[in-house]
Amino acid sequence: MEVYTNEDRNLQGLEDLTGLKDLAERDKAVIWHPFTQMQTAPLPIPIVRGQGTLLFAEDGTTYIDAVSSWWVNTHGHSHPYIAEKVAKQLHTLEHVIFAGFTHQPAVELAERLLPILPKNQKKVFFSDNGSTAVEVALKMAFQYWHNVGKPRRKVIALQDAYHGDTFGAMAVSGRSAFTAPYVPFLFDVEYIPTPVPGQEQAALDQLQALLSDDVAAFIFEPLIQGAGGMVMYKPEILGQLIGMARSHGALIIADEVMTGFSRTGKLFASHHLSHQPDLMSLSKGLTGGTMALGVTTCTNAIYDAFKSEDKHKTLFHGHSFTANPLACTAALASLDLLLSDETQASIQRISQRHAVFAAQLSQKPGVKNVRQQGTILAFDLDNEGQTSSYFSNIRDVAYHFLLEQGVLMRPLGNVLYILPPYCITDEELTTVYSAIDKLLQHIRA
Ligand SMILES: *Cc1c(COP(=O)(O)O)cnc(C)c1O
Repeated sequence: MEVYTNEDRNLQGLEDLTGLKDLAERDKAVIWHPFTQMQTAPLPIPIVRGQGTLLFAEDGTTYIDAVSSWWVNTHGHSHPYIAEKVAKQLHTLEHVIFAGFTHQPAVELAERLLPILPKNQKKVFFSDNGSTAVEVALKMAFQYWHNVGKPRRKVIALQDAYHGDTFGAMAVSGRSAFTAPYVPFLFDVEYIPTPVPGQEQAALDQLQALLSDDVAAFIFEPLIQGAGGMVMYKPEILGQLIGMARSHGALIIADEVMTGFSRTGKLFASHHLSHQPDLMSLSKGLTGGTMALGVTTCTNAIYDAFKSEDKHKTLFHGHSFTANPLACTAALASLDLLLSDETQASIQRISQRHAVFAAQLSQKPGVKNVRQQGTILAFDLDNEGQTSSYFSNIRDVAYHFLLEQGVLMRPLGNVLYILPPYCITDEELTTVYSAIDKLLQHIRA
């Protein structure tokens, strides 16, 4: 193995890195970060190690990861059980082409996933992230109608939805600052209001008006719209909407990329619903947050529409790292942990602690719209009585204030939320809650 020192690099005419101060400066010289305005963003914080809910920074600071590192982590960082299984798999089979070949971790993962999903889910298609899991669901839905010889063109989605950053996923997401530059390139989608309390009837009426024999699919994030601001709505109204859409033949797509794997208190948000989806997209918590993996699952009715002697009916979709054995192994290890009594008890504990804190929060000035679903707690910072220029900065003020308290949260505008790994201790939860209390005092001071 060759290891290059900075002197070697100099000899080879490579850039001298010794002059650069530290990792953050070196990063700034060469890296473009996601969702980051590189002109104004402060230097990134170099993290050298993770353990449980804690992230250890290069400068010795520790942070409680109260957002599960963008909603992916479920059992804590560098979990020894997952690490051991993945390390073993790495020495056995790191990757193999998944067309014409298969392997134990993929088969076992599909065998173990299907029984815990809604009962009508019968086939698993692998990809490698949440956006592609959504793309595949959309392609399956469109091609289903094509293959059965009754092409349908319309998709219905919820306003302010977020389904990912690739083009199809963007198209079915709400139109926002995120999508503005691409709008001319996105296919048309019809939106209905998100059926939050008070908007149920409007959602029902608008769906009724849009439904026709041309609706291919109805897509939603069940119960919680994540990136749209942790917007929460009830299973009963979603069930009604699904029932209406299905009565017109529309395929039902549940994007459980964020809500899957017990975030909402049940294994999947769809388990809260009276109606089952036809297609589901999963990623994020699938591997416990260890590795990139996505899956799209579907019913036999959809799968059967692609089976034919006619090659044109094939689902022509696949990614280089489809069903990567390491990622499948991480997902299997994560499932072992998730389904254990200990983790399920912890999920209940977090939900109960959140409920107590939510009741306190609702009494506080400067806080409104406190809401909770399982392990996710969210609220809005109320801008009443605040000068608007200060308030428009509130996201950055809150983010940096909380970091100084040793708590990593990433407010969505004026929406604050906690979405922790399930291993978070009571003591750590208390630290997060009191950091929020301090933030509220700071904002009102
Ligand atoms: C994050 C997210 C996605 C996109 O997943 P990526 O892995 O970031 O591509 C899609 N849908 C929902 C609901 C999400 O929260």
